[in-house]
Amino acid sequence: DWVDVADAIRSAVERLQKTHAGRKVKLSIAPGLRFVRGDQDLLIQVIYNLLDNAHKYGGEGEISLHARDEAKDVVISVTDEGPGIKPSDLERVFEKFYRAGGADRRKPGTGLGLSICRGLVASMGGVISAESPAVRRRGTRLLVRLPAAELPADLPSDASDRGGSA
Ligand code: ATP
Ligand code: MG
Repeated sequence: DWVDVADAIRSAVERLQKTHAGRKVKLSIAPGLRFVRGDQDLLIQVIYNLLDNAHKYGGEGEISLHARDEAKDVVISVTDEGPGIKPSDLERVFEKFYRAGGADRRKPGTGLGLSICRGLVASMGGVISAESPAVRRRGTRLLVRLPAAELPADLPSDASDRGGSA
């Protein structure tokens, strides 16, 4: 199916605001953001998981979400202002059941969210990665890069996420 990324982002933010009453997210979605191929609900789940982590591990700071086209891809990033992830854990957090961080700041969770996200993003032909500034060790950014879909020229953009041939 054709997935309207901007729509999926707004749904994921709404879901976060239902589960964590009123949690604010600073949104910046590039106008005319392209569509991707895949499943809308699964993309919502991926973005929601990243927002949930940013809320859970990012402390009181701001959560920001940016989405833009970059060459042939659509890039979505979720950034928080929390304590960050140490360099040696940046890949490990995508392993099943792996949880980083000291016991003192451990929050409830199973360590499955990011491994599921990686699988879902891969199923849409994309990649997911984590960045955390090694020097200041402040803040975490999760990046999702998905190949943009070429929309057929005659597909009306307001109907394109419904009933597209996939
Ligand atoms: P689940 O998502 O299954 O409820 P979880 O949040 O622990 O549990 P993941 O979402 O896979 O599992 O995250 C794995 C680990 O990565 C977390 O336990 C946490 O240590 C670390 N992590 C994830 N996101 C962040 C973040 N934004 N800042 C700091 N650490 C993070
Ligand atoms: Mg999680």
